[in-house]
Amino acid sequence: MCLLAGVVLAGAMAADGISERAKRLHFSSLVIDTHDDTTQRFLDGSFDLGARNALGSIDIPRMKEGGLGAIFFSIWMPSKITGPEAVKRALDQIDAVREQVGKRSNDIVLVTTAEGIREAHAHGKIAALIGVEGGHMIASDLGVLRSYAALGARYMTLTHSGNAEWADSSTAKAEHSGLTEFGKDVVREMNRLGMIVDISHVSDKTFADVLAVSKAPVFASHSNCRAICDAPRNMTDDMIRALAAKGGVIQINYHVGFLSQEFRNAERAHPEWEKAIALEIQKRCREREGCQLIEGDLITREYVLRGDLPKVEWGKIIEHIDHAVKVAGIDHVGLGSDFDGANMPFGMEDVSMLPKITNALLEKGYSESDVKKILGENTLRLMADVEGVSSELNAGK
Ligand SMILES: [Zn+2]
Repeated sequence: MCLLAGVVLAGAMAADGISERAKRLHFSSLVIDTHDDTTQRFLDGSFDLGARNALGSIDIPRMKEGGLGAIFFSIWMPSKITGPEAVKRALDQIDAVREQVGKRSNDIVLVTTAEGIREAHAHGKIAALIGVEGGHMIASDLGVLRSYAALGARYMTLTHSGNAEWADSSTAKAEHSGLTEFGKDVVREMNRLGMIVDISHVSDKTFADVLAVSKAPVFASHSNCRAICDAPRNMTDDMIRALAAKGGVIQINYHVGFLSQEFRNAERAHPEWEKAIALEIQKRCREREGCQLIEGDLITREYVLRGDLPKVEWGKIIEHIDHAVKVAGIDHVGLGSDFDGANMPFGMEDVSMLPKITNALLEKGYSESDVKKILGENTLRLMADVEGVSSELNAGK
């Protein structure tokens, strides 16, 4: 029986196309994903992080299968929600993350530092972290920002798709010419608190203002290369170089609309499809945002399968990683999937497929230590740097 099981297992492993060397490297590395929207599913009530789910991309069984060592759960709501309601909803989401993680403490543990991630990993547990996706959630109040930090939030994306009251987004009409004076105070306070300033989604001018003000390196928690796909929330080569010069990291996003120019062109040529998809989502989910994000991915896939939208393969992720490495250098690129919040390419439907990235990078000729940097070591270095700046600022240096 044992012998037979062994044969079946060996066959399954060969069929996944991943070399033994890649598997060894992947499962001995600390793999970190800096952006996941699974939190929205926690709010639906019935979701269990500990069970293998048929839908979506993230749960503990599949994180283990994919060798994911640390995950940043995103706190998110549309930019139009502001003021006390935004604060209330953000606190509810932070609570939902803490509750889901707390219930599964044998497998996953909430941490807030680079050292915390390494420690969790050493104990065989997944590290969970919190990122706030959108400065609109602090209601223009540094006290609220400090409260989020105290509850465990370790980065904040300054804007989402709309402008914050104090920072411009890449996908809205400019109102503030980048960061306002208060926006600059937000960045300074984040430096002091040891929160990573996240420049994904912000306008090019906001990005430039952040680089001028921040004392710590910053990152893009889920952004791609504009040289390959011209989405305004992707980064130009000049921006990627400037981010790297400051010690930052660009975390590559797997969303097809940010990966593929062909996909983006097709979407732009048919705005009526976007409307039809939005209507269908509304029909299936009403106001449940977790459902909306998951169904959005499924419905978009239906458009691809019937030949309306182009099929984007997961190898596009490798193209963006490789381009970013050429521009920024090997120390400044990581992974920020956008799982459970975007439309995934074929072959990267969920977190269990992550070893393919390691395999592809080795096949491209990347050294094992360089692959480890992309998988997570660059993010750990960045976090330690941000924590160091925070300590210095708090010591009054
Ligand atoms: Zn986002």
